[in-house]
Amino acid sequence: MNNKKILLTKKMWYGINASVIIGPGFLHRAGHGIFLLPHPPIVDCILRYGLRENDRNKLSVIHEFAHLKTTPFAIVYTFLVFFVAYTNNNYVGWRMVLFLILSIHTAWEMLSEGVTILDDSHRYMASYEGIPILPRACFWTITSFIVIEGWYFVLL
Ligand SMILES: [Zn+2]
Repeated sequence: MNNKKILLTKKMWYGINASVIIGPGFLHRAGHGIFLLPHPPIVDCILRYGLRENDRNKLSVIHEFAHLKTTPFAIVYTFLVFFVAYTNNNYVGWRMVLFLILSIHTAWEMLSEGVTILDDSHRYMASYEGIPILPRACFWTITSFIVIEGWYFVLL
């Protein structure tokens, strides 16, 4: 949990200003203009487990901006998944819709963390020196399973 407020605004590659607010307190906020979505940093809690506060905050900010940078890809991916789901299945029930939303969001988390790693891979690796790999291994394993499971249901 952060005691201080970190607020950053950047212009995204598609021309819209995006803002990320970390703290004070548990919630993160990210979005465009006045549309800032407050959310619990569940993925950050797993991925940043054991990190020093400074490293955790830096990587959390990069990860949140990665979501905003990749928003257009997430939208296209969402349409692709539901297009394939509706064309391949006779019936897509509400449980399938909920699971596909989870799977799509999970793919977006993986993409955002990938962008976070590629932002400065040397700094990323240095931040995790001496930190157990288990939480990150759990993240990548579980998220991979959920995304593959989503495509398994969509393509059947
Ligand atoms: Zn995320």
